[in-house]
This record gives sequence, structure tokens and C-alpha cells, in this order.
Amino acid sequence: MAMIERLARIAAHDAHTAGLKPVQWEALRFLARANRFSRTPGALTAYLGATKGTVSQTLIALERAGYIDKSTDTADRRTVRIALTAAGRKMLIRDGTEPMEHALEAMSEADRAALMAGATALLKARIAIDGGRPFGICRDCRHFERDARGSRQHFCRLLAEPLSESDAADICIEQQAA
Ligand code: SF4
Repeated sequence: MAMIERLARIAAHDAHTAGLKPVQWEALRFLARANRFSRTPGALTAYLGATKGTVSQTLIALERAGYIDKSTDTADRRTVRIALTAAGRKMLIRDGTEPMEHALEAMSEADRAALMAGATALLKARIAIDGGRPFGICRDCRHFERDARGSRQHFCRLLAEPLSESDAADICIEQQAA
């Protein structure tokens, strides 16, 4: 447990970079990884496990800085969609996670794989305690139908929506492990 706390503290320290707060970085990273069904304030709130107020302030700050755009869904006017702007994508290049990524790269492949498997299991177990959503990868979801409409043209059986190869690698609020 002490090791997890130290790692979390170092990661939090690294995250104070380029004038953004850790939660603002997390929001940018989420928007870069989430699929089109999950880029909403509600999904971001669920992903961060934060309060609506924190997420709202985070989005206001990121929008003011020009890193995200908000728009109303054309099919459902009650839903707000969030997207990274070109400036937001550029900002992600300056992400403070770089030192941790270098440390990971320096590990042996076997150690890195074991760490990832263990960390994934721990994260899932911890999220489950709060009844949260795992936000897993789309292609590992029970609703994912590979090559349903031809090569690399996949389909979501839950949402009845086509999925591209790039969608398959994104995370999703509705994901349920296969
Ligand atoms: S297949 Fe699963 S993860 Fe992918 S979009 Fe559908 S519900 Fe989300």
C-alpha cells in the first residue's frame, strides 16, 4: 500500500505541469481516449469519480483555455458533447506523464506486462467497490461485433452503431468485459 501511495504522489507531482491542474490533464487524456458515446460531462464525471461541480469547473477552465469545444448533440438536445480542439491535442504532447512512461519503458517486457496485469486487476477491483464503471477498451466488450459489415467495419450490438478500427481501441462508458 505504501508503494501505491508513493507512486500516486509522484504521478500527482508530475501532473502539475504546463499550467494545468492534475484533474485538467486527466480530462484531456480522457477525451483523447474515449469514444464518441463517452465524450460527455456525465461520462467524464463517472471516469474521474469526481463531483459534478469539479467536472464543471474543469470543463469551464479547459474551454476558456481553448483546449476543448462543447456542443449540443443534434439528435438529443439534452446531451452535451465535448471534443478536444487542435490546441488541446497539441497540449497533450506536453503531458507530464513522460517521466513515468520513461520509467516504464526501462522495465523488462515481462515485468511491465506483470505490472500492467496487476494494476488493471487492482483498478477494476477498487472501482467495483464504489460500483463504478470500468471504462474498458471497446474491442474487449461483449457487445462488440468484429468485422460485422466487412473487414475492419465493426458494430456495437448495444447501441446499434457502426464502429471503425479506431473506435475499437477507444474506451467506453458502456463497456462490459466479454
Ligand atoms: S461495443 Fe461496448 S464498448 Fe464498444 S461502443 Fe458498444 S457498448 Fe461501448
